[in-house]
Amino acid sequence: MTSAETSSRTLLVISAHAGDFVWRAGGAIALASSRGERAKVVCLSFGERGESAKAWRAGRTLDEIKAIRREEAQNAAAALGAEIEFFDAGDYPLIESTELVDRLVRVYRELEPEVVLTHPLADPYNGDHPAAARMALQARVLAQAAGYDAPGAPLGAPPVFFFEPHQPEQCDFKPDLLLDITPVFDRKRKAMECLPAQQHMWDYYTDLAKRRGVQLKRNAGPNLGLAHDTMGEAYMRLYPQVTDVLA
Ligand SMILES: [Zn+2]
Repeated sequence: MTSAETSSRTLLVISAHAGDFVWRAGGAIALASSRGERAKVVCLSFGERGESAKAWRAGRTLDEIKAIRREEAQNAAAALGAEIEFFDAGDYPLIESTELVDRLVRVYRELEPEVVLTHPLADPYNGDHPAAARMALQARVLAQAAGYDAPGAPLGAPPVFFFEPHQPEQCDFKPDLLLDITPVFDRKRKAMECLPAQQHMWDYYTDLAKRRGVQLKRNAGPNLGLAHDTMGEAYMRLYPQVTDVLA
């Protein structure tokens, strides 16, 4: 693969709320952008009702909170080197609709992503996350259909990875991919620190990255010489991996 081909790759991340993509996929996004790839985040909502408790306690209005969360997420995306688009579809609940799915189809057709990241399909703590995942998957299927009425060519079959939910055991989340994010972890931490509305998450997701890093080393074999401070992110693959070399 030439470097020109490498740099034309695109990563699409579909996130229910303004913070989700940072905690759960910030490393993958920063890795992609550090390779010169295009990375785009679609935030279906700002997390204004369900994931902004600090601002509600401070007496902010809904519109103020949406503006705050938008700016925070924009700063976080910039720290990760990603573009970001907000659908402002509302949260708690995020209501699935054909209009939202159609907007996502148009994003798929325009970006032609090589990789898609989104939430797992189960989350008994948060109905918005599976709703976002269902719409992300439905839009991917529709974007593949030659007869679907949206600009652009039919989509190929970009692999879909679920990023790690907050309580993985309750969400049927069993990692089958551990991503080494060591080289970009400082950028992920900076992006997390762009989200003071959820400051309690900064250390939690730093600790999680350390634990996933330990597991990454355990699964990489003893001779790869991975740095001691390896940091990781866990993912689950939805569709089978396609390869002509077992690795
Ligand atoms: Zn969320």
